[in-house]
Amino acid sequence: MSRGGARGGRSGEPIDWVTRAADDAVRHAGEGNLVTVASGASPSGPIHLGNLREFLTPHFVAEELRRRGVAVRHLHSWDDYDRFRKVPAGVPAEWADHIGRPLSAVPDPWECHPSWAEHFKEPLRASLAEMGVQMDEVSQTVMYQAGTYREQVLHAIRHRDRIEEVLGRYRTKAAPETLAESEEEAESLADSVANEEEPAGSGDLARFPYRPWCGECGRDTTDVTSYDDETTVLTYTCRVDGHQGSTTVSEEDGGKLVWKVDWPMRWAWEKVDFEPAGLDHMTPGSSYTVGQELVASIFDWQAPARVTYAFVGIAGVQKMSSSSGGVPTPADALAILEAPMVRWLYTRRAPKQAFTIDFGPEVVRLYDEWDALRRKAADPAKRDVAVLAFERASATADGPLPVPDVAVPFRTLSSVADVTAGSADLISRVIEHLGFPHDTVEQLEPRLARAMAWTASLPAGERTTVRSDPDTDRLASLSEDEELWLRIFLDRLPDELELDEVTSVVYGVPKVARGLGFEDAPTDQVKADQKAFFTLLYNLLVDADRGPRLPTLVVALGAETVRRLLGAPTTA
Ligand SMILES: [Zn+2]
Ligand SMILES: [Zn+2]
Repeated sequence: MSRGGARGGRSGEPIDWVTRAADDAVRHAGEGNLVTVASGASPSGPIHLGNLREFLTPHFVAEELRRRGVAVRHLHSWDDYDRFRKVPAGVPAEWADHIGRPLSAVPDPWECHPSWAEHFKEPLRASLAEMGVQMDEVSQTVMYQAGTYREQVLHAIRHRDRIEEVLGRYRTKAAPETLAESEEEAESLADSVANEEEPAGSGDLARFPYRPWCGECGRDTTDVTSYDDETTVLTYTCRVDGHQGSTTVSEEDGGKLVWKVDWPMRWAWEKVDFEPAGLDHMTPGSSYTVGQELVASIFDWQAPARVTYAFVGIAGVQKMSSSSGGVPTPADALAILEAPMVRWLYTRRAPKQAFTIDFGPEVVRLYDEWDALRRKAADPAKRDVAVLAFERASATADGPLPVPDVAVPFRTLSSVADVTAGSADLISRVIEHLGFPHDTVEQLEPRLARAMAWTASLPAGERTTVRSDPDTDRLASLSEDEELWLRIFLDRLPDELELDEVTSVVYGVPKVARGLGFEDAPTDQVKADQKAFFTLLYNLLVDADRGPRLPTLVVALGAETVRRLLGAPTTA
């Protein structure tokens, strides 16, 4: 698959945002050098589908570079040395005691992980693995505590006046509200502004770039009271417990650079060539804007090539996500969509385009679109940008991601799951009769389990309820036409239901009732009769005026149930 060069898009191949971002990353690294693409996330809460852009954007760039044969690594920083900022709903109020401590030092209220940070890392890690995302994970807690950045910390402290000169220039600039395109986006922007650092000291030491954790309580609620450039001894007072402590920065690692200095320091230390940034980082005076200047003037590195990514909206959520504050996570999406489809949502649109993931009826249409794209991708003559997105979604350098051997339309699978409310085995047997021969249930996976999960997530009003007993009142008051239709239908309905035959019977009954044959074209009168007949069947079978496609419904219910609900005399 190598294109024999580090540049993409040669020889008439389609070009998309990934191609261009990969070109930018190579340009930043310099031809022939290892390319480092980076992502970062603070495990302060559930990682939502919107945050997934942070991970998948560099992932797709890394995959593009692997395809070109370029040496690349995807470095992911867990910002687990960030402070715990607020107690979310559903967490015991006493966790307020941990505000100001590193996320890695806050206990897991659910008691299933060693820390707050690990509790939120693990589910995302599992989802990314399912999506074929490989990255080198780095814990900033581990890095800082190991003294990895000690020289960089001392360097930043030595240049604190120049840093403050830059920070001060940006500090007065407020975030313009016009950047936000939605209410949720505005909230996230407001959140990022609230995240800005408080001063770490007072007087000359105000805005000190390094903040020690309190030696007594472990919080970052410390004011730097003195710093000796010769000995690197720093003293501080804790605002919470009044503890007066000291640390020797050249020998100890009990603190952290403030965020706006920390981020550019790591760009330089890790030699990052490409890193995406959310829209909330693009405000004037934001950490990204300031970091761009600091990384060059203080840390001797050019800010990485970047793309800015926009908001991902969520719609149609019903019963999902009780564990994540109601906002769906990647795991929720993977329970409904095949892994390549989740990847596809993020690769088919440029990062700066906002989009919405709809977990309602739109899911069915999304599967149809995906299946159509797969058929198109099978024809090399039709290779275009859409097919390129399909290819990026379907496989990584390690190979293709799992797709069903027998790709039954999601519409069909979910209808059968809905009507039968049955086990995978039962659904598999019905599917066999619907014209999708297969040897094992596994051949329908991973799609079958997703159809079942999605169906189960639908609100009761959108589910099909099969009648348990015949509607005797309705059956007793049939019109002459209706009586005739049912008689013909029961007469023609085979015992072994196969979709093609059932389809022809369902559509043929009103024709026969008007003296036509099954294969004759319907007259206008027959078309009107068909409509009335279908409504009658829905009424009698599922107590509604509409439902899943009738032939599918009839096959899924089976001949015995259909006969019983349509008032056929019992054979017993
Ligand atoms: Zn846990
Ligand atoms: Zn303290």
